Amino acid sequence: MEPHMISRIVRSQREFYCSGITRNVEYRRKQLKKLRDLIAGEDGLIVEALKKDLAKPALEAYAAEISLVLGELEYALKKLESWTRPRKVRSQLALLPSSSSVVPEPLGVVLIIAPWNYPFQLAIAPLISAVAAGNCAIVKPSELSPHTAEVMEELITRHMDPRHLSVVNGGPDTARELLDHRFDHIFFTGSSRVARMVMESASRHLTPVTLELGGKSPCIVDRDVNIEYAARRVVWGKFFNAGQSCVAPDYVLVDERIRDEFADAVKRAVVRFYGQDPRKSPYYARIVNRSHFDRLMGYLDQGDTVVGGQALAQELFIAPTVLDAVDPEAPVMQEEIFGPVLPLIPFSSFPEAIAFVNSRPKPLAIYLFTTDRVKQELAKNETSSGSFCINDVLVQFFSHHLPFGGVGESGMGRCHGKAGFDTFSHTRSMVQNTLAFDIPLRYAPYRFKLPLVKWFL
Ligand code: NAD
Repeated sequence: MEPHMISRIVRSQREFYCSGITRNVEYRRKQLKKLRDLIAGEDGLIVEALKKDLAKPALEAYAAEISLVLGELEYALKKLESWTRPRKVRSQLALLPSSSSVVPEPLGVVLIIAPWNYPFQLAIAPLISAVAAGNCAIVKPSELSPHTAEVMEELITRHMDPRHLSVVNGGPDTARELLDHRFDHIFFTGSSRVARMVMESASRHLTPVTLELGGKSPCIVDRDVNIEYAARRVVWGKFFNAGQSCVAPDYVLVDERIRDEFADAVKRAVVRFYGQDPRKSPYYARIVNRSHFDRLMGYLDQGDTVVGGQALAQELFIAPTVLDAVDPEAPVMQEEIFGPVLPLIPFSSFPEAIAFVNSRPKPLAIYLFTTDRVKQELAKNETSSGSFCINDVLVQFFSHHLPFGGVGESGMGRCHGKAGFDTFSHTRSMVQNTLAFDIPLRYAPYRFKLPLVKWFL
């Protein structure tokens, strides 16, 4: 988009925000309902676009993109009244007779930059929070999922008021152009490489940022597990969207005493879910583009293949692949995989697995499979990550009751449900005093007042 067009959109949103219309809770409710009806009514169009961009199976598209967004909308509509209500807080003795309260207020005009892997949901879920909190918003979808980006532009820009909500499509140049403008918040989802540039641009205007990033989320599989169930859940979470999920288990640390049994169970689960030839499976997505395909192909020979390894460039197909005997120093264990390649690394003691996780940057998620309560507590208490999930994978992302976000290198800030509303709000502290009378204790001359002040404060 031309720079002057971007300037015009930002300016018209700023003017619209300053008119105060979006502060009105009923206006917000109306917009959220409109969004809900739009999305529910056009879900087929969205599923179709996701299929074109990533060959996303309809169930995965519906569950992880549309249903999640509709859930966020329903929840925001249900809670809007209570989230926006001023809350009285206590006034300590020294502040009496005044009353104190905290009031959530919108931030202003916000920018949402989204990635390509869940291109609809990762653009629209933060948009819902921004609208619920009373902001105007511009969404910049990823250029790598152009069909979904186009559908979002069609739905939002055409059906919503562009002075309130706009979709600006384009690549890095468009993003940079947008970032030259002053926003009141920037919500970025993507790689840590680009996040650094976003934060640098934001610093010019002292704009606060939320950074939803990725990294290598480990999965620890202890020997005290139902191996079959653990393998199935890991395979499901890893190969959902062909491994292109920020919260996918990146690699598995498995107790060496169950390593072979677990590898066999993983192999069985892959065949059970996707058949002997996953290329023919309608339930398996494709890699987003050739450059990611080539990057992932580079990982395939970095271990012994337990299952998978087949690929076809013309179809951007890489089979669900599990690698054993992977060197922890190999590139596949250094970079976020973000694709259907699962390294298995054996460990000989539980503390060794914990130490391995702690020797690396804080991940977006840690997954642990064990029925041993002591080990569950140990892992909970001795590690840090954006989220932590015992005996399952990915599911924490789907709850609007759980704040979602990273820590350290996996990001900063939170989204989903109330946490998303808070991200796009400023909590304003209010004090209201009376002019009916005046206590002179605070005024000079102070003379004999110190003992009284000591008693009061
Ligand atoms: P990316 O960083 O390449 O791109 C993300 C967005 O930034 C795109 O819209 C892109 O156009 C834009 N962009 C590119 N260059 C830019 C620049 N110089 N300045 C400003 N914006 C620019 O990320 P991606 O490849 O789309 O997504 C993959 C990454 O996102 C992975 O690391 C993954 O883990 C992470 N991710 C995180 C979450 C989460 O919720 N934490 C969710 C999904 C993906």
